[in-house]
Amino acid sequence: MARHDPILIVGGGLGGLTAALALAQRGWRTRVLEGAPEFGAIGYGIQFGPNVFHVFDRLGVGEAVRAASDSPPALLMLDALNGQEVARIPTGPSFRARFTHPYIIIHRIDVHNVLLEAARGTDAIELVPEAMVTAFADEGDCVVANTADGRSFAGAALIGADGLGSRIRAQLVNEAAPRLAGYVAHRTIVPMAEVPDGARRDVVVLWGGPGYHVVHYPLRHGAMFNIVAVFRTVTFADKLDAAAYRAELEKTYRAAHPTMQALSAMMDVERRWAIADRDPIRHWSRGRVALLGDAAHPTLQSLAQGACMAIEDGLCLAEEIAAVEGDFGAAFRQYQAARLIRTARVTLESRAIWEFFHVEGIAREVRNRTAAEWDEAHMQRCLAWLYDGFPFRAARCAGASRSDASTPG
Ligand SMILES: Cc1cc2nc3c(=O)[nH]c(=O)nc-3n(C[C@H](O)[C@H](O)[C@H](O)COP(=O)(O)OP(=O)(O)OC[C@H]3O[C@@H](n4cnc5c(N)ncnc54)[C@H](O)[C@@H]3O)c2cc1C
Repeated sequence: MARHDPILIVGGGLGGLTAALALAQRGWRTRVLEGAPEFGAIGYGIQFGPNVFHVFDRLGVGEAVRAASDSPPALLMLDALNGQEVARIPTGPSFRARFTHPYIIIHRIDVHNVLLEAARGTDAIELVPEAMVTAFADEGDCVVANTADGRSFAGAALIGADGLGSRIRAQLVNEAAPRLAGYVAHRTIVPMAEVPDGARRDVVVLWGGPGYHVVHYPLRHGAMFNIVAVFRTVTFADKLDAAAYRAELEKTYRAAHPTMQALSAMMDVERRWAIADRDPIRHWSRGRVALLGDAAHPTLQSLAQGACMAIEDGLCLAEEIAAVEGDFGAAFRQYQAARLIRTARVTLESRAIWEFFHVEGIAREVRNRTAAEWDEAHMQRCLAWLYDGFPFRAARCAGASRSDASTPG
């Protein structure tokens, strides 16, 4: 097929839209097939480490994202039983000096809109809502995607950016369903005026307790307050009614600090999310088809990096496609090799941090005593591999040839 036949992107989430924008910047046309009736995001907050700005600035959307976001002065972890501070990561001036870019909190709809607006501003991206892809066929010189309503779309290649429950992955990789962590999340947004006394309103707070945690932070320049309550439950796979969810929340947080109890009482119990990830795998592409974001390497949210990884994937994938002028097999292998260790580290460290949040008994005391020794410099060293960002292709290639040159023999 000709170089300018469109690439199909299945899924118009943050990862899919980033890939489309990065490809457009390099002269490639894309057709983004989104299963939902409209392109959009769920109405809650999201945190981004400074690493996303390496991508957003490259795509020319960094300033719009900064303008719609807030940058908290710190991330705090509190002990859910007694309210004491366990750990603190200052994210003010010293953090920015070290990592160049801010740590931000933003409404998902706002960041999604920035990407959507950029996508609508170029003829290179065709946005197709109500296109739920059910299967694909790699025909050797093109890929065909079929949708639930009987349509077919052909493209030069296909990128599966369809999230945790990816249909594209199910066809590409022979494996079981995602690994359920045994935890659920409830999310809610309330007006700042309704936030209970005792809750910090300016920073990101995580209350870690035995088998549960709560995260909260301000949104939209202090007008709103985002709360996520997460806890272990045997009913994680069941769909119950709101009264049953409420009763479970009350029982779970009954021994928690009073501020946490007040926060958990505000949770929306109409909907809950089962928490899941997958073990890292080495191969998430074949022929003209590749996965990105949650479809490729879903992670627990403890490092708040799932979307950040999807966004980094999008740029990396576009760089590799552009570098080999349409040899998609080669591009996808390079992309996969480049992204494997970083994304697997996010998945595995997120699991370790998940445990750290939820320990009890003596382990909790050990955690608190150990964390008391961590100063700002220590925190910055621990996060540098992540927050320094993913190198652009030119830097990756330079790094590879340097290490080739230094290989003995
Ligand atoms: C409670 C919670 C908190 C989180 N907090 C953070 C955070 O603070 N920071 C962070 O970086 N990450 C966070 N994450 C993770 C983040 O939400 C995901 O990693 C991120 O959304 C993945 O992006 P994606 O583009 O790969 O997939 P998704 O966002 O899942 O997008 C997939 C898109 O594909 C569409 N789709 C699905 N199937 C099909 C199909 N068959 N055909 C067509 N379209 C389809 C969907 O409608 C959707 O639009 C959190 C996750 C949870 C559960």
